Amino acid sequence: MNTPGTHPGFGMTSQRTRTRMIERLREQGIVDEEVLAAIAAVPRHVFVEEALASRAYEDTALPLGYSQTISQPYVVARMIEVLRAGRELGRTLEIGAGCGYQAAVLAQLTQEVYAVERIAPLLDRARLNLRAIKELKVRLKHADGQLGLPEAAPFDSIIVAAAAARVPRALLQQLAPHGRLILPLGATTQQLALIELRPEGFVETRLDAVRFVPLLSGVE
Ligand code: SAH
Repeated sequence: MNTPGTHPGFGMTSQRTRTRMIERLREQGIVDEEVLAAIAAVPRHVFVEEALASRAYEDTALPLGYSQTISQPYVVARMIEVLRAGRELGRTLEIGAGCGYQAAVLAQLTQEVYAVERIAPLLDRARLNLRAIKELKVRLKHADGQLGLPEAAPFDSIIVAAAAARVPRALLQQLAPHGRLILPLGATTQQLALIELRPEGFVETRLDAVRFVPLLSGVE
């Protein structure tokens, strides 16, 4: 909520609205303190269009241009919490870097973050945004993430920020032993799916209903 006469997104107000966002995530059931700290550490207003900066700490998806959206903080927190449950993220791949926000959150939690994006101007924006917050360890690539990132595989964690009708086979093939993949699955209605590579094979668990933009083929 904006207070008259203040400028949300900047200085103390940004600090207060960020604290509120963390309280809301707790109320919504996020319990992993390290995930909450990671989200608190990333200034989301840097990643959204200037005209939307005052809304950066609302728990909502916001437009990024190119028909894409920056993910809702709750969904970012939830997916990362599920990936982390009982272990560290390890080597992590994000498919659909968009403006780089989620990659920045991941970078607070692990040393090795790779992120791919199929829309070149968005990837450029992610690069600028990450540089603006001095987050230099995320390795970004312009590529179709349905193919994963073979040159850096295998991954302990893979997180997909766009909905797929079916699980891309390459992503399963690039999971390390005990690795986890989380993605929104489904065409019309979507549900988060967690897939874990256990000694006995892949184990899939269905989680919350969600709404993501579609995972598309090729690059532009
Ligand atoms: N993680 C982003 C959310 C971006 S929205 C954030 O924190 O803001 C999803 C992104 O997935 C879009 O930028 C879209 O262009 C991208 N995307 C969709 N299909 C893709 C694919 N096959 N490979 C890579 N990126 C893809």
